[in-house]
Amino acid sequence: MPLKGTDIVKKLPDGGKKNCKECGFPTCFAFAMKLAAAGTTLDKCPYLAADVKAELEEALAPPIKLVTIGKGGAALQIGNEEVIYRHEKTFIHPPGIGLLISDKEPETTVGDKLAKVKELQFPWVGRVLKADVLALQSQSGDKSKFEALVKRACDTTDLPLVLISEDVDVLLSGYQLCSERKPLLYPVTKENIEKIIAAVKNKPTPLAVRGSSVEELVPLTIKLKEAGLEEIVLDPGSRNFRDAVRDQTLIRRAALKQNFKPLGYPTIGFPCFMSNDEVKQVLLAAMFVIKYPGIIILSDFDQYSLLPLLVQRLNIYTDPRIPMSVEQKIYEIGEPTSESPVLITSNWALTYFIVASEIEGSKVPSWLLVKDTEGLGVLTGWAAGKFSGDSIGPFVKKSGIEEKVRHRRLVIPGKVARIKGELEEALPGWEIIVGPREASEIPAYLPNLVQKWKN
Ligand code: SF4
Repeated sequence: MPLKGTDIVKKLPDGGKKNCKECGFPTCFAFAMKLAAAGTTLDKCPYLAADVKAELEEALAPPIKLVTIGKGGAALQIGNEEVIYRHEKTFIHPPGIGLLISDKEPETTVGDKLAKVKELQFPWVGRVLKADVLALQSQSGDKSKFEALVKRACDTTDLPLVLISEDVDVLLSGYQLCSERKPLLYPVTKENIEKIIAAVKNKPTPLAVRGSSVEELVPLTIKLKEAGLEEIVLDPGSRNFRDAVRDQTLIRRAALKQNFKPLGYPTIGFPCFMSNDEVKQVLLAAMFVIKYPGIIILSDFDQYSLLPLLVQRLNIYTDPRIPMSVEQKIYEIGEPTSESPVLITSNWALTYFIVASEIEGSKVPSWLLVKDTEGLGVLTGWAAGKFSGDSIGPFVKKSGIEEKVRHRRLVIPGKVARIKGELEEALPGWEIIVGPREASEIPAYLPNLVQKWKN
């Protein structure tokens, strides 16, 4: 269970009665409450004894540790999850979807897979959905073959790497070639743990621990932590659907409900090792997106299997409490001039992207004003008072659009035609034009409107 503010305050100086305000809070109690809510940090209080600080640091650490694989912009962060069920709050770090490449595969297959993982990118409501991990496996047991594969992958992509080999010497030889990229090494087992600790101790790197059961993972993670290696990923070794769900759930519950630190790490799932059937692998991956691995490795995919998986991941990891929205501002569609039309819509991401793409389709360069409705669509925003004439008027004035266009004509969505009157009052000098009800009518509507203005 997470530490409560009332527990923390007892450990603060003078039993929480010092109240010197040096932390920026009026009382020790206020500081404790904020700490419990992860709104401040322990170092703000200069009077904490070292042992108390260490104790609180341990108790306040997230129940599932954050692990970063890879470096730079492509790095993958997993862990830090706070809930068992997504509807309780939200899931935080979407799992990395990875493609497995073996050093036993023909050169052409390796080339095709490396190209595929780069090319399969899907623009999706303002984002780009894509696979985020490359798993390189030594099946041959041949150091030079594995090294060649690692080199080739490093030259081709900056994706985070998972290095896989049952032979620890082969694994470490691949690691030496790409240690700067912070790859995840797999598997760390009771047989090879000493050798791996010795190899990476001076340059900590994420390690994926494999046991033949959940219980077997515990002494391994304790040993790694004692060696100062805390970026750990767990594989309980389950290789069928039923056992995998059971073990993933057990680990998540132990971390979140019992605050059992030795299992407080993200996990990895291997559909690629659970079935040779690619369709079954995708189904297993879909299950893992929900429960609960931070990395999911498939032996292959194409656009038809990858896209649904990525969309499912997006849906599961989108915070259900926060509608997807875009920034309130003026968007330029095409290269608008001072004579171009000005349209307005709400900042719900879906509305924005549909309207923007229909304007683009009309081939009429335009200014699109996007008003913050806290992610609500046009009609819902109007019903909630966030897309009314009273609120749009001040936004238009402050937006800076009056400096960009010579005319004073604003096209509003047809669905809120009723705000025309109040908007005319709020924007004196502006002509308010009621546009189409549906965005799909824009490509026919805009060229006609511009032509009418010219005549
Ligand atoms: S700095 Fe420390 S002792 Fe002072 S009020 Fe804040 S928590 Fe209390």
